[in-house]
Amino acid sequence: MSDRLARVRADIAQAEREAGRAAGSVTLIAVSKTFPADAAEALIDAGQTVFGENRVQEAKAKWPALKERHPEVALHLIGPLQSNKAREAVALFDAIHTVDREKIAAALSSEIARQGRSPELFVQVNTGEEPQKAGIPPKEAVDFVSRCRSAHGLSIAGLMCIPPVEEAPGPHFALLRKLAEEAGVDGLSMGMSADYATAVAFGATHVRVGSALFDGRSYPEQGA
Ligand SMILES: *Cc1c(COP(=O)(O)O)cnc(C)c1O
Repeated sequence: MSDRLARVRADIAQAEREAGRAAGSVTLIAVSKTFPADAAEALIDAGQTVFGENRVQEAKAKWPALKERHPEVALHLIGPLQSNKAREAVALFDAIHTVDREKIAAALSSEIARQGRSPELFVQVNTGEEPQKAGIPPKEAVDFVSRCRSAHGLSIAGLMCIPPVEEAPGPHFALLRKLAEEAGVDGLSMGMSADYATAVAFGATHVRVGSALFDGRSYPEQGA
């Protein structure tokens, strides 16, 4: 387990060096979805402190006890958020990567005010304009970030994308970076097990890595 972690960290460090970026400028999010709590805890024991889950329900079942034992852990929501789960999401997560429509922005805004808790927020962009995929269309992304700020009082940390599986990811990472510059945000959540080194070369600040870190003993994704 920690062998995998060491390898991924070494790859990220090398990609940072090759891109002329500062060591440690990329945050590794260990995506523990579909993996049991003890697998996540083994990584925590190996020194990993940032984790990602893609379902609020699964995270609620797995993480409160783990967070109690390991208060240093930060938990990121990287999967779709329904507005009726905004309350639970703001209570449980330290970052939310999937803000992609007004209704979610409004729901998060009122929960942040109500709970006095401000998770870091990323706007998800559907860079491949895939009909089945979540995310705001690229053409609307910059305006949406401004509306999140002006109409909903939200602070936006960055943009997030999941490139189409069958395409080279580089152009999608480049597009996300260009949109982030136009929107005036610094964070770039991009890169998964297959392409995190490429993402670092294109400026990723957060990479979301699951299967490269965990071994094969996952359980089926509920409802997937
Ligand atoms: C599952 C998932 C990941 C991690 O994918 P791997 O290929 O297992 O590294 C990253 N981002 C999102 C949004 C995911 O759902």
